[in-house]
Amino acid sequence: MLQTVSIKVTPTQESKLNTVDWENLPFGKVFSDHMLVMDYKDGAWQDAEIVPFGPIPMHPAMSAIHYGQSIFEGMKANKSASGDVLIFRPDMNAKRFRESSERMCMPVIPEDMFVELVRKAVEVESNWIPSREGYSLYIRPFLFATDEFIGIKPSETYKFMIFMCPVGAYYNEPVNVKIEEFYTRASEGGVGRAKTAGNYGASLFPARLGQQKGYHQLLWTDGKTHEYVEESGTMNVVFVIDGKLVTPSEDSDTILRGVTKRSVVDLAKAWGMPVEERRVTVQEIVEANRNGTLTEAFGAGTAATIAHIAKIGYRDGDLVLPAIETRTFSQKVLAHLDDLKTGKIPDTMGWMLKV
Ligand SMILES: *Cc1c(COP(=O)(O)O)cnc(C)c1O
Repeated sequence: MLQTVSIKVTPTQESKLNTVDWENLPFGKVFSDHMLVMDYKDGAWQDAEIVPFGPIPMHPAMSAIHYGQSIFEGMKANKSASGDVLIFRPDMNAKRFRESSERMCMPVIPEDMFVELVRKAVEVESNWIPSREGYSLYIRPFLFATDEFIGIKPSETYKFMIFMCPVGAYYNEPVNVKIEEFYTRASEGGVGRAKTAGNYGASLFPARLGQQKGYHQLLWTDGKTHEYVEESGTMNVVFVIDGKLVTPSEDSDTILRGVTKRSVVDLAKAWGMPVEERRVTVQEIVEANRNGTLTEAFGAGTAATIAHIAKIGYRDGDLVLPAIETRTFSQKVLAHLDDLKTGKIPDTMGWMLKV
């Protein structure tokens, strides 16, 4: 049972709906009319409100900007042909948000309440869901520390917000990634498993070095030996080697537990494909590419869903992967996920939340 939350809605006086170019949406630059705000103070969550989208006042000493207690989530909503509004697995994001809060010493939003807040926000913005194929309403819940105080301790006040962006494709082409053997995204005992702001700030410089060499993203390796593949900047990584689905296991706390990757693994198993979630070495990827058993590689994440990897940069060369047209599994899983999100096929896994 979902917890019912009463939410005051203050509608905007000036909708931006008809200013949007619905045929040509960039990712993350168009914001819908409303946002949800819920404060935490005196040891309790206050009433959530949905208000017109806009700037928020900020004290210069607001602790999130100085000390980084800040976490976020990302998920998507779509509309089916019959007009149903569907959100993809928000319960998984609710769980990860709770885990991120715990790791960052922030107050927890009960998972059912998180889902209900997301549902309500999407309900209010349901006419912001694009209908063009491959487009969606991206949902960004986030929580940050708001104490006006200089000193390192967990904040006593926080702000939780949700805003939404109608979005087009994240990548318009297959991606090239570079195996990173010097910089580290996450180390054991660190915060790699949490979707916390600093992880992304820390990755920008090494990612830029990769971009200067023509790679869209890095393929991170473990911080200790750089011998094991971990994940990419905002995507988990999945390989098809010798007909088996191979992906780095999430047992190490250095890898973000992606909802998309989990769904890909669940579908592969349901379709009878062998799945290996285990440590994956860089050398085995190089070797599988050399002997022709590495037939597919892709990133899995909410923003891109499935991003085919065309090339993997390794040291001074590139591992060139087979043509996209030959990638039977990734094409099938991408089509399946798209059809599920838009209600074209029955939701046998019980993944979709109908708003
Ligand atoms: C968000 C994210 C992912 C993908 O997770 P999804 O739940 O599939 O969107 C993977 N890796 C990192 C580092 C991320 O931040």
